[in-house]
Amino acid sequence: MSAPAPTYDVAVVGGGPAGSICAARLASRGRRVVVLERGRHPRFHLGESLLPESLEVLAAVGVLDDVRARFLVKRGARFVDAADERRAVRYAFADAFRARHAHAFQVPRDEFDELLFRRAGACGAELREGCEVTRVMLEGSRAAVEVRGESGGTETFTARFVVDASGRDAVLARKAGPTERIAHLDRTALFTQVRGAWRDSGEREGDIQIVAFGEGEGRGWFWLIPFSDGRSSAGAVVSSAWVRAHRALGDPAALFRAAVDDAPAMARMLRGSAHLFAPRATADFSFRVGTIRGDGWLAAGDAAGFIDPLFSTGAHLAMRGALQAADAIDAVFTDPGLAGARFEAWETELRAGAELFIGAVQAFYAGDLNAYLFADPQHPFLRRAITSMLAGDVFDQGPVWAREMRARFPVLP
Ligand SMILES: Cc1cc2nc3c(=O)[nH]c(=O)nc-3n(C[C@H](O)[C@H](O)[C@H](O)COP(=O)(O)OP(=O)(O)OC[C@H]3O[C@@H](n4cnc5c(N)ncnc54)[C@H](O)[C@@H]3O)c2cc1C
Repeated sequence: MSAPAPTYDVAVVGGGPAGSICAARLASRGRRVVVLERGRHPRFHLGESLLPESLEVLAAVGVLDDVRARFLVKRGARFVDAADERRAVRYAFADAFRARHAHAFQVPRDEFDELLFRRAGACGAELREGCEVTRVMLEGSRAAVEVRGESGGTETFTARFVVDASGRDAVLARKAGPTERIAHLDRTALFTQVRGAWRDSGEREGDIQIVAFGEGEGRGWFWLIPFSDGRSSAGAVVSSAWVRAHRALGDPAALFRAAVDDAPAMARMLRGSAHLFAPRATADFSFRVGTIRGDGWLAAGDAAGFIDPLFSTGAHLAMRGALQAADAIDAVFTDPGLAGARFEAWETELRAGAELFIGAVQAFYAGDLNAYLFADPQHPFLRRAITSMLAGDVFDQGPVWAREMRARFPVLP
């Protein structure tokens, strides 16, 4: 006879940054938490450039010192015109209106995600790897989460609450309601890692380089993200129109090469570097999720929606949203009467932060943001407003600069 299923306060689906932060926070508050992760850490993942405002989250779960010891400090973001590298503007995080942290980090995600995952374990969460959640049944105040192990065996976990932190799979959120593509953000990313690429020096060594190219429908950009060990993450985000026009080239490696060949600034930065793996592709990543919470569950991280990575926002929204979600869940366990108000406040803040980023990313692709990004000379107020957004300071709607950004770059239908 099999042992009775264990009972947890919270079952977290997915052990990426959102799941691990949520689990670490809840476990350190004394809640019984299990994290069910399909893969095994360390594993490759995109999304290596963090934002300064995430440092508060890393500190809150007690992992900031480890992060500081291991990863390259990122003090700014530099936007470069692909056609003419002399047309470049650097945004230093120290210039943000509320520069609570003047830097972030560049993190190979295999190492970073494993660090967060193990931290959740050290805080008291039970960690299960090689466990794919195949079904979640919500039955009033008790949820049953069915899992398939690597050998094909199944197991069921029962919990009072389920957090869907399954990334873009969004296992619960996609079932709970409709998802929609975000207008004007239909893009494909071609990505690889390289060794020997150019990087800036001194305190600018850790900057992310964002190389903008194209006009109208064909507008796109590259990223170049340096790591502390000499590797760099390199990628191109191209439009569907660009992919259609270059389809005959064939595989992602050929497409990536073509994109670089058309962009002198990026070609210069990559000159002499060697690929560590052949370029790969991922498409259709931006989406909105209609329902991100319900009785006994909520979605955190990419499972609650994903925005084009132009401003390196994904991990920040994921980690910050997950920390706030954990606090709301914890408060509701203590006082169930708070459920409606706490979860609503959490969702409102998260969506407001995401919408500011969405408006600005749409403005980039529409061509409206470039005049501000590359302005010469720059309006000092707008420069600091853009820097504050790039630092991830998007959740407080009060400051005048945040209202200004929302007004200038409204979300497009
Ligand atoms: C091209 C591109 C570039 C990006 N660049 C950046 C960047 O520079 N900076 C940045 O901050 N973000 C970037 N991102 C976004 C970033 O990758 C994500 O926002 C971030 O990983 C979200 O974390 P998460 O924990 O929500 O999801 P994930 O990191 O995807 O973790 C989800 C976890 O859930 C697991 N899982 C899924 N389904 C199941 C299941 N059924 N059962 C159990 N486990 C499951 C997965 O194995 C995975 O480990 C980029 C994204 C893309 C597409």
